[in-house]
Amino acid sequence: MNAATAPGHTVLVVEDEEAISDVVATALRYQGYAVTQREDGWEGLAEATSNEFDLIVLDVMLPGIDGFEICRRLRQEDRFVPVLFLTARDAPDDRIRGFVTGGDDYLTKPFSLDELILRVAAILRRTGNSAPSEHFTVGDLVLDPEGMEVQRNGTPIDLSPTEFRLLHYLVVNAGTVVSKAQILLNVWDYAYDGSENVVELYIGYLRRKIDDGHEPLIHTKRGAGYVLRPSEQ
Ligand code: CA
Repeated sequence: MNAATAPGHTVLVVEDEEAISDVVATALRYQGYAVTQREDGWEGLAEATSNEFDLIVLDVMLPGIDGFEICRRLRQEDRFVPVLFLTARDAPDDRIRGFVTGGDDYLTKPFSLDELILRVAAILRRTGNSAPSEHFTVGDLVLDPEGMEVQRNGTPIDLSPTEFRLLHYLVVNAGTVVSKAQILLNVWDYAYDGSENVVELYIGYLRRKIDDGHEPLIHTKRGAGYVLRPSEQ
């Protein structure tokens, strides 16, 4: 499994169903996360405003105030901690989408723990929380996750948010071949019902911006996927 990139991240789990909360907390702790659990909407909000967390696993239907309201109040206070919503199967999709932005995501109950772990790790990677203010360097490519800036040989490169997330994922996994399925799962939203063609399309966009006029960094491994590294080995 593609597990957490680094131990020690803090996760707040706000979920009133004790059995779900416990199984989620246990799975996250097993991956090395420090987990705090709250069962009530107000308690969850209080916890999220008084302590810093790297990510919140937030049930939507909660006693007190619901998960959407908690998220709304956090954003109002300029708290942009990423949120992974847990929603009931019959929850309206448009309401969820309204709250799912940037680094956020959602899972529909019932979900597998493997999927939850993958989502949490993916959110932390794409929000740059895997290592605050860390710069990644691959050859003459430099990527700054926090500033969302990319340079090649000292020249800034302008990327769309999706291109940036894709490059960030390739950079974090530099030297490792990643499949189109892995890229789809980690770079695109769960809600994105895209085929793997979208990956090829965006790899093409990235190549034009990153590799044109340089020694290529993005390499295709036929039948396997893509790998980012300074030269074909
Ligand atoms: Ca609930």
